[in-house]
This record gives sequence, structure tokens and C-alpha cells, in this order.
Amino acid sequence: MTDTKILITDGLDGRGQSLLRASANVEYRESTTPEDLIKVIGEYDALVIRGQTRVTEAVLDAASRLKVIGRAGVGVDNIDLDSAKKHKVTVVNAPTSTTVAVAELALGLLLALAREIPRADVTMKQGQWVKKEFEGVELNGKTLGIVGFGRIGMEVGKRAAAFGMNVIIYDPNVSEHELKDGNAEPVSMQDLFAWSDFISLHLPLNVQTRDLLGPMAFSQMKDGVRIVSTARGGIIDEAALLNALNSGKVAGAALDVFEQEPPGLTDLVSHPRVITTPHIGAQTAEAQSRAAEDIANEVLSALRGELLRWKVA
Ligand code: NAD
Repeated sequence: MTDTKILITDGLDGRGQSLLRASANVEYRESTTPEDLIKVIGEYDALVIRGQTRVTEAVLDAASRLKVIGRAGVGVDNIDLDSAKKHKVTVVNAPTSTTVAVAELALGLLLALAREIPRADVTMKQGQWVKKEFEGVELNGKTLGIVGFGRIGMEVGKRAAAFGMNVIIYDPNVSEHELKDGNAEPVSMQDLFAWSDFISLHLPLNVQTRDLLGPMAFSQMKDGVRIVSTARGGIIDEAALLNALNSGKVAGAALDVFEQEPPGLTDLVSHPRVITTPHIGAQTAEAQSRAAEDIANEVLSALRGELLRWKVA
């Protein structure tokens, strides 16, 4: 594949880059706007991205040589999949590489919410010794509602069960057979909202799931529920969440993902009962290394016309 040209944007861990460089000409460009991409994409056979680069219809219109787009990670909502299909451009991702990293962050956020760890740390750094304000709650014996019981949701379920939580799940696509290994009881979405002390979201963003947690959903939840989202911004209606926090319906929320990223210092981000992280779910050394290696192998397979493990479009 000596004439093959691959463009990497958004960065790619070293091992993945080496694999690609061993088989093709690889270039790296920092700029990721669709406008910048349109100017250069016509030169490349493959594009390797993470979550930042947006591959729009206009980018694909300009991509005359492009055969494959590789997303080093899971979410492909930054790629216009219909247009990719129309242009006969294959889209592959690395869906298993970041599962544990995201599941561990979700557990970290559950614990941080239950014990207010970030706020307690801030008071220490201000030279204070505040104990009474930080009476938290325990995960043990509480009900965790997991919405979306796929790869990440299942890993969260196992770990939450180890903390003594009663795990209930809502996922319209998971069979009873798959649930046998999952330490979890399937319930309706309404029951999940009504019974959960904690809710953790692990479903994709799409037209059905946008604003899934809106005013109606919050009204069905237990008073004092705590919510974790490491899924995608847009699944929670942020204005409705802010209202639910201010009314006391929601006791706390921990968010790794936002409707707009970066969100800036919004009322939600600066809310004292909200913990935020800058979309770091997949940001572990292990996950980045696995994602880079997986996507490099998958993109090379696509270029060689071989059978693909993770074809999205
Ligand atoms: P997955 O495809 O294995 O699981 C998603 C599950 O959601 C599936 O089982 C599906 O049936 C279920 N689902 C779909 N629509 C639903 C609905 N309306 N209600 C309930 N369940 C529904 O995906 P995964 O690897 O577990 O990833 C889950 C999500 O995590 C991804 O969509 C991605 O957006 C997000 N993610 C975030 C980060 C991060 O950095 N924070 C990193 C990786 C993935």
C-alpha cells in the first residue's frame, strides 16, 4: 500500500500510529474544522479521527479518494453516516477499547456524588476542616438504575453489584439470556425512574434518546435521586436537570458529557451539587492505547478489503 495516504486528526496513541506508518504514508493535522478538512481530504484514502473532528456531508463530498474513516473509540455521532454510505465510504470504530475506562469513571462519579469528594477536597485546599457538611450516603443497599445495558452498562452493573447495590436496568434491546450474566433485573423505564436512588446513563444519543431525561422523566423519579452521565450530551435536557436540582428533586448530578462541549461556566457546571469532568470517560492510558491499536488494524483491514470486525457503515 505504498501509494496509500492516511490522515490522522485529533491525535492517536503511538502504537496505532506505528502500525499505520508501517503500511502507508501517514500525515497528522491538528486542525479539525470541516472547512479545513474540506481543503485537504481529497488527497487521502483513509481518515482516522477521535471525537473532535466532524465529518459532515460537505467533507465527504470533497473526499474523492476516501475509502474508510476510522473512529478511535466508540461514538460515531460526529460522522454523517448516511452520507458516508452514500459516498461508499466505510466507517469503522473501536467499540470495546474504552469500555472499562468509561465504566470505572462512572463508578468514580457515583462514589464522588455519594460522598461529595470533590467539594470536600476544595475545602481542604482552602485550609478548612469541614466535617459536618459532608455527611454523605452509602452505595451499599441502594438501587442503581442503568439506562442502556450494553458493553459499558454491563461493566458498571457488575462493579455496582460488588458495592452492594441493587441493580435494575432498562434496555429495549437486551435479551433475558444476556441478562443472566449481568447481575441485573430488567424493568420498564417508568419503574427504573420510580425506584432508583442513583441513575447511570449508558445509551447512545439518537433521535429517540435526545432529551430522554426531560421534565416528565424527572417528575417520575424519586425525590433525592442522584444522576450520573458518561454517555452523551443531549440525552439529558440540561435546563430540566437544572430545574430538578434547584427544586431538590435531584440531589446531585455528575456529568462527563454536555449538550455543547466545552460547555463553559454554565449554571449547571457551577452548581454546587453538580460534579463535572471534561469528557474524560475514555481518557486512560490503557484505553487510548487499545483504541489506537484496534482502529489502526481495522483501518488497514478495510484498505486491504479484508473482513471487518467493527463496521458501523
Ligand atoms: P453499546 O452499544 O454496547 O450499548 C448501548 C446500549 O444502549 C445498547 O445495549 C442499546 O440497546 C441501548 N439503548 C439504545 N437505545 C436505548 C434506549 N432508548 N433506552 C435504553 N437503552 C437503549 O455501547 P457502549 O459501548 O456501552 O457505550 C454506551 C455509550 O457510552 C455510547 O453510546 C457512547 O455515546 C458513550 N461513551 C462515552 C464515552 C466518554 O468518554 N464519556 C466513551 C465511550 C462511550
